[in-house]
Amino acid sequence: MPELPEIETIKNGLLEKVLGKPILEVEVNNASVLRGGKNIFKKTLGGESFTDITRRGKMLIFEIGENVADKKFLLARLGMTGRLVYFDSDDALWGGYSFKDKKSFSHKHCHVIFTFEGGGVLLFCDVRRFGYMEIVDEMGLKNKLEEFGPEPLSPDFTLGIFRDIARNKKTNIKAFLLNQKYIAGIGNIYADEILFESKIDPQRSIDSLSVKEIRAVYDAIGKILKKAVANRGTTFSDYVDAAGDKGNFKKFLKVYGRAGEQCLRCDTKKIRKIKIAGRGTSYCECCQK
Ligand SMILES: [Zn+2]
Repeated sequence: MPELPEIETIKNGLLEKVLGKPILEVEVNNASVLRGGKNIFKKTLGGESFTDITRRGKMLIFEIGENVADKKFLLARLGMTGRLVYFDSDDALWGGYSFKDKKSFSHKHCHVIFTFEGGGVLLFCDVRRFGYMEIVDEMGLKNKLEEFGPEPLSPDFTLGIFRDIARNKKTNIKAFLLNQKYIAGIGNIYADEILFESKIDPQRSIDSLSVKEIRAVYDAIGKILKKAVANRGTTFSDYVDAAGDKGNFKKFLKVYGRAGEQCLRCDTKKIRKIKIAGRGTSYCECCQK
């Protein structure tokens, strides 16, 4: 599943391609991925253009049209297997769940197709349909954004704020990092990398962490996510960035995907994989305490 660095990379790719281009047609092949129904979707988007694309956590927000008085937004969540694919006569962008062989790409799981003036086409595809698209107004967007904790790369995400969020929580640190209500955008890969970097056992409960350990987790969140964004996210079996390039962060992964391999830091133990909060969790029991 794409996380903050991957969605940020997709967003940047799409900004270059679709911004300000009139939408000639919206074709809906499977309305089950739309929240709010097909008619409102087609009516709101037809003839309009995307005037901005932003990201909140793992959610993409497309601002629709110039109408300031009654602004509408298209929200897109890629879920586990969602993809956004854009192509025109010169270029193709592939974001989200990867294609083993792009030549064999079929439109079977492309549920929504946007055709832009000039011939560009944006597809929203999702095999398992855990992702969705939804049109909301300003109030709807505000309500949606309230479901998220702070953006970890925003200057507002200070150590003080992190301490406040963590205060009195009894959950384990891994589940805490995955909870979008506490911090937005972190998923399984980066949670494991952050905890390895900060040398914290993912099973530890938050209220057992010392001031110094909380600080170490906070510092690791910024460090790991910044580095991942700079490297266009991680390459693994189900992620390719918007430009069709594989992200470069894989070479920096220290624990994720390394279960059974020797720890790169202590070189005495093999990386262990356990389940926490229903998610596979890789860590080193020797250097994460
Ligand atoms: Zn180790």
